Amino acid sequence: HSTNTWEQVDHYISERLIPHDAVLEKVLATNQQAGLPPHDVSPNQGKLLNILAQMQGARRVLEIGTLGGYSTIWLGRALPTDGKIVTLEAHPVHAKIARSNISLAQLDGMVELREGDALEQLTQMKDEGVAPFDLIFIDADKPNNPLYLEWALRFSRSGTVIIGDNVVREGEIIQAYSTDPRVQGVRKFYDLLAEESRITATAFQTVGSKGYDGFVIGIVKD
Ligand code: SAM
Repeated sequence: HSTNTWEQVDHYISERLIPHDAVLEKVLATNQQAGLPPHDVSPNQGKLLNILAQMQGARRVLEIGTLGGYSTIWLGRALPTDGKIVTLEAHPVHAKIARSNISLAQLDGMVELREGDALEQLTQMKDEGVAPFDLIFIDADKPNNPLYLEWALRFSRSGTVIIGDNVVREGEIIQAYSTDPRVQGVRKFYDLLAEESRITATAFQTVGSKGYDGFVIGIVKD
C-alpha cells in the first residue's frame, strides 16, 4: 500500500473517532502559520497519547520536546484537574507559541513549560527534588535519546510508563552504519532499553499522515 492509502486511512480514522475540536485545530494552524517544523504528533497519535495517559491513570507527566504544545494539550486533557505536566523546550520561539497555545486550551494551571536545554532543565529538576512522574514522553533531539532515557528512569517510580517517538524513521533504524545522528541516537536508545533491567519495553510501527515511523513504549519495573 502507498503512503497515499496510509494518509487516507488516517483521515478516515480521525474523521470518525476524533471529534472536531476548535482548540486543537487552531493550535495546529497556528504552529504551521508560525513556521514551526511540522513535527507535532498527528491527531490520531495525540489521541493515542491521551488514551495511554488515561489508562495509566497519570497525574504527573513529563514531556521532553514541547514544540507548539500540541502533544502537551492532548496529554493535559487526560489528567485530572489537579494533574501536572512538566514540558521541556529549548527553542524560545517554540516555547512562546506553546505558552499561548496551552493558554488557549486553558491548561496553563496544569502545565509548567521549562524553557532551556532539556539536559540542563533535568539537572535543575533533580536539584529541586522534583517528584517522579507517572508517564514520560521523550520527543526532542533524537541524538540525546540515550541520555533522556537515563533521566526518565531517574524521574520514574515502579509502574511509570516511558514513551519515545520516531523510533522507526521510515525503516532507517535498521541501518547500523547510518550516518544520521538521529538514527544512531535512537539505535543506542534501543540498546539501552535492551540492557536496562529497570524497564521492559517494546516498539510499534506506525503509518499515517506522518509517514512511516513508530513509538517505543516501556514500563518501569520494581
Ligand atoms: N512533542 C511535540 C508534539 O508532538 O507536538 C513535538 C516535539 S518536536 C518533535 C521536538 C522539539 O524538541 C522541538 O520543538 C525542539 O526545539 C525541541 N528540542 C530539540 N532539542 C532540544 C533540547 N536539547 N532541549 C529541549 N528541547 C529541545
